[in-house]
Formats: sequence, C-alpha cells, structure tokens
Amino acid sequence: MTGRLEEVAAAWRSAKYPVMFTGAGMSTESGLPDFRSARGLWKQRPESLATMTALRREPGEFYFFYQWRIARLWAAVPNTGHEALAALAAAGFVKLLITQNVDGLHQRAGSDAVELHGTLRTVSCLECGAGYDSRTLLPAAAGWEDDYRAGRYLPGKECACSACGGGLRPDVVLFGESLPAAAWETAERASRAADFFVVVGSSLAVGPANLCPEFALANGARLVIINQEATHLDDRAEWVFRDRAAGVLAALRERIIG
Ligand SMILES: [Zn+2]
Repeated sequence: MTGRLEEVAAAWRSAKYPVMFTGAGMSTESGLPDFRSARGLWKQRPESLATMTALRREPGEFYFFYQWRIARLWAAVPNTGHEALAALAAAGFVKLLITQNVDGLHQRAGSDAVELHGTLRTVSCLECGAGYDSRTLLPAAAGWEDDYRAGRYLPGKECACSACGGGLRPDVVLFGESLPAAAWETAERASRAADFFVVVGSSLAVGPANLCPEFALANGARLVIINQEATHLDDRAEWVFRDRAAGVLAALRERIIG
C-alpha cells in the first residue's frame, strides 16, 4: 500500500482543484454506530420512518429514532481522518469538502463542509421556524431508552418549540425531501471543476449525492476511492483503497504536509 500512498500523495499535492466527498464510513471510527444497529421498528425500515409522514403518524418512533442518534453524535468525537482532512484544508489542499454525513464531526474537527443531507446538530420548529441546538430534543429524565424498549415511551415537551408549541424536526433531509439547493449547487459546481476527487467512506449508493464523483470524472478528474466496500465507480477510479478511512487519510496527510 505504501507505493500507492506515495502516488496518491504526489497527485494530490500537484492537483489544482482537489475536492473531497465523505460518507458514513468517515465516522464509524468515531464510535458512531450505524443507526440500523439500534432496536426498534426503524431497524427494519428506516426509509419509511425518516419521513414527515412518520413524524405525524408515528411520533414516538420518529422522535426516539432521532433522539437516539442525536445522543450518540454529541458523545462522539472527530477521529484522525476528520483531523487529517481539516489539516489538509488548512494547508490549502482541499478546495471543497462535501459530506453526506449529518453528524457535524467535520466541523468539530475544524473543517468547513457542505452538508448535502443537512445536519443533526440542530432542529427547528415546523410552525414558526425557530432553530435550536439538537440537544434540546433530548429528554431531561434518564431512562427514556429503557422506556422505549419496554414499550412505554412517549415523546415529551422537549419535542415541542418552547416559543410556540409547534413540533420540532431535525434539520436533516428526510426521505422524499430534496437536497438543500445552495449546498447542492456548491457541491455540483466544485465537482464539475475538480481535477482530483477523493471519495471517503461512501458506497455511493445514495443519489443524487453520488453524482458528484461522476461530475468530476466528466471533467477528467483523477478519482481516489477509500471505502471498505466496493462501489460502482471502482472501475473508473485510478486508486481504490478497500480500507478504513481514518488510517488512509492520516497516512496521506503525513506524506502531503508531514
Ligand atoms: Zn415554534
């Protein structure tokens, strides 16, 4: 792997417009569990519970799902991969960091990131639009996870806006919603301008976000894919690392900026 790391580092160093694109695999080494590993109805069908319909029809399942994830994301810390990308960006080696993640770990590591799927760091009121830190949504009393497992969980007043009483929602893109327009435009423009494009921890299964590396390829960009599973663009990548994100990024950082 060392020879390939040297090649990628050299290509990255000479790139004029390097763009990064990260997904869930970026955060697994921060101890963020895949949400499908939790219990509950949404283990079987997250696509139908991460929706506005579910918020209205099954508020208990909906709110528990997000409370469970919010509690864990605030307990997680950025890993050496997040730190490597922040350091590379500070040194001028990243034009744009695009992420599919909603955990805010890039920002907490010091990176600016375009969040294609919104963020779980904040929630907002469905009625008046007031915004809150997402920890607002966490029940004050302990034991709510046990209550859920015992079938006696109900969403409490923490799920309502303290200004108007309207329901709160996470500021993430739910299934059936479109991507935030400004974020998408920024990501598309940078991807189309990229001459070097690195996919990190994404299986490129979710559209339209997964078009970004294709925009870059159409511009003639050299593509690097760092992901534990295969992706449909592996054949078009110049370098594929079937590996954990943090280790590869830390090794590249070492070779590019020391
Ligand atoms: Zn409100």
